[in-house]
Amino acid sequence: MYSNLTLSDKRAISLFFFSMLHFAKSSVSLQHNLSLQQMEQKQSLLGMTLAEITESVTELNLPKFTARQIADWVYLKRVKSISEMTNISLKNREVLAGTFDIGRSEPLDVKTSVDGTQKMLFRTASGKFIETVTIPEDDRLTICVSSQVGCRMNCDFCMTGKQGFHDNLTATEILNQVYSVPDSEAITNLVFMGMGEPLDNYKQVKKASELLMADYGLAWSPKRITLSSIGLISNLKRFLDESKCHLAISLHNPIPEQRLAIMPIEKSAPVTSVIEMLRDYDWSHQRRLSFEYIMFDGVNDSLLYARELTKLLAGLDCRINLIRFHVIPMSKLRPSTEENMIRFRDFLTAKGFISTIRASRGEDIFAACGMLSTAKIGEKS
Ligand code: SF4
Repeated sequence: MYSNLTLSDKRAISLFFFSMLHFAKSSVSLQHNLSLQQMEQKQSLLGMTLAEITESVTELNLPKFTARQIADWVYLKRVKSISEMTNISLKNREVLAGTFDIGRSEPLDVKTSVDGTQKMLFRTASGKFIETVTIPEDDRLTICVSSQVGCRMNCDFCMTGKQGFHDNLTATEILNQVYSVPDSEAITNLVFMGMGEPLDNYKQVKKASELLMADYGLAWSPKRITLSSIGLISNLKRFLDESKCHLAISLHNPIPEQRLAIMPIEKSAPVTSVIEMLRDYDWSHQRRLSFEYIMFDGVNDSLLYARELTKLLAGLDCRINLIRFHVIPMSKLRPSTEENMIRFRDFLTAKGFISTIRASRGEDIFAACGMLSTAKIGEKS
C-alpha cells in the first residue's frame, strides 16, 4: 500500500513518524527529568499527621516533643520554611531540613473579579496546573479547592472534564491551596467543588479534611467543610460513615436517561441508588445535605423537571441550590434565563424545599471550573 503513495505523501508520512518519534523521545526525557525531580523532592510536612511527624522525628533521633512543635509551626503559625521554627535548635532544624520541606507553594497567577471573587492557579509537584477560587460573601470567605488534576468523569458541561484525568492531588497539594491563597487566614468555609471528583481521590481528600479539623491543625468544625460529588457510590458510603462534613450531590437532571446524556456516571451509579443510600442517614441535625442543580436553557429548566425533582427528593431533609451555568467553549449548553430560574425556585419552595438561586460570581475571571488551567495548558502547548 505504501508503494502506491506519491512522493509527497511518503514525505508527509515520514515527517509524521519523525515528529511522533521526537514527541515520544521528548516525553520520555520529560518523564525522566520529572522522575529525577520527584526523587530529589523532599517530603512535605504540610499534609502529615502528628503521628506521621512523630514517627519521622523518632527516625531522625530528634526529641519526641519536636513533633508537636513542628505541627504547631506548620499548621498554626503557618511558616514557609523550617528555618523559621525558632524554638527548635539550629542543629535539629538542619537535620529536619535535610529530609523535609514545608510543602508550601505560592499561586502562579491570581485573578480578581469585580465582585471580589479570586481565582488562583497553582502548579503541582509534577508540574501540572490546578485552580482554586475564593468567594467573599458578607462575613464569610469560602474557598473552593481542587482535589484532582483534570477529572475522569467527563460531565458534558464541565471544562475540567474535557481535560481528562491527569493526577490525584496529595493532601499536601490540597492543603497548600488553603494555606497559600491570599487572605488564607480569613477563610471560614471550604468546599471540595473545584477540579476533580473528590470521592475519586477519597484517601487524600479525607486526610486533608482531617488535618483541617485536627486539634493541632486549624481545629475546624466539620460544619465548615462541604464535599461535593456526583455520587461515586462505594466511596460515598465510606464518606457518609467516616466523616461528619456536609455533602452536596451534583444532580442536574432528575430524569435518569437525560442525566446520563450529560453525566456518564449515571450508568454505573444511578442517582436513584445514590438517593436511596442517602435516605439511610440522618440529615435532620448538624450535618447538611444539599443538591446542586445547574440550570441549562431549554434542557432541564421547565416545571416538568422541577416536579420530577420534588418526586425524586420527596421526604429527604435537604436543600436545593440552583446554579447559573457559566458558558464553556465548544458546548451548545446555555444558561437558563433569570425568569425560568425564579419560576423553578418558586415551584420548589411551594413544595416545601429550601431552594436558593446561587448568585453568579466571578464570570469576568474565567470562574467556571477548569477554564483557567485549560487556558494555561493551551499556552504551554
Ligand atoms: S463536574 Fe465534577 S465530576 Fe463532572 S467532570 Fe467536572 S470536575 Fe469531574
